[in-house]
Amino acid sequence: MAKVKKAFITGISGQDGSYLSELLLSKGYEVAGFVRRNAALDFGNANDIKEEVKIYYGDLHSPESIALALYDFKPDEIYNLASLSSPLGSFSDKMGAIMVTGVGALNVFERARQVVPEAKVYQASTSEMFGAPKQVPQDENTPFCPANPYAAAKEFAHRMAVIARNDKKQPQFISCGILFNHESPRRGLNFVTRKITSAVACIKNRKIEGVPLNEIGDSIVKNGKVKLGDLDAKRDWGYAPDYVELMWLMLQQEKADDFVAATGEIHTVREFAEEAFAVVGLNWKDHVEVDPLFIPPVQTGPLCGDPSKAKKLLGWEPKTRFKDLVRIMIHSDLAKFS
Ligand code: NAP
Repeated sequence: MAKVKKAFITGISGQDGSYLSELLLSKGYEVAGFVRRNAALDFGNANDIKEEVKIYYGDLHSPESIALALYDFKPDEIYNLASLSSPLGSFSDKMGAIMVTGVGALNVFERARQVVPEAKVYQASTSEMFGAPKQVPQDENTPFCPANPYAAAKEFAHRMAVIARNDKKQPQFISCGILFNHESPRRGLNFVTRKITSAVACIKNRKIEGVPLNEIGDSIVKNGKVKLGDLDAKRDWGYAPDYVELMWLMLQQEKADDFVAATGEIHTVREFAEEAFAVVGLNWKDHVEVDPLFIPPVQTGPLCGDPSKAKKLLGWEPKTRFKDLVRIMIHSDLAKFS
């Protein structure tokens, strides 16, 4: 009988961690996840599967907690998804970004090298590492030029992964997924897409109590309006469940490598808002206000990816397109904020 594979996921309570867990469980994996101790009663997006996965308490700040979990679970695959993942938020917590998203990733690579050297590692890199690129679309060879602390920390982790992979004495299997924005009903409310879809739902449902808060602690909707940042920001938005399939595929290869995951389609935040309000028969212009508070001090983009390498070598393609993504998120939020 084939050995049951074991996967260890940092950031299991996040958007991607929860979808990836579901995918791996459906493939018969034994799955364990790393959860911060202050989340003892709330596993976020992983609440529904918490009985099916093994939970280890720990923090990327703590190499010891990583080592103990790896020593006990002995995974075949490690997916390092934990991060402080808001580019805008990273300007007000630069040290947090560097220590968790950058040094934290190195903690995972190093403990994996010492405790489970045969394990294959996935590192969650990001299109934000391209900054404001001249080349559109971007691929695996586009130069990095991070424009926010989050992206700088991710680039550090990415470079350390490549160094570990190329180490002649003890090469480590670490593959980096350079993922462009991917969204879903599980996306954090501090990200613009989810902010828009939750606002649309609250406005459409005329919700007054229980309206979610934005990243500065204000109601996402006030007087029928939602405050957004740069409406001209250009992004390539895909659907998270499609993207976790690529993560898994990358670790089924013989050789570690880097892959871009993207749809190759580009849209502005304005277009996202227009489409989202149109789904419920409203005009976005009546409900969107720009607030400079939500515009980052250094802007990035246009971010649009070329996923040809993933298609050619792994047979991966995103299945869900922009309009369907918006609809999925709107319908979920209409039910959630009813
Ligand atoms: P997410 O929903 O924000 O999840 C981040 C996860 O990291 C959460 O489970 C969080 O736990 C955990 N975490 C934060 N700080 C930690 C720490 N000090 N120790 C241990 N865990 C910690 O992010 P996501 O959207 O699923 O993204 C997954 C990964 O892909 C992230 O690394 C992100 O930067 C990267 N990425 C995402 C996108 C995207 O568009 N979604 C694009 C490119 C790259 P708590 O619940 O306790 O906070």
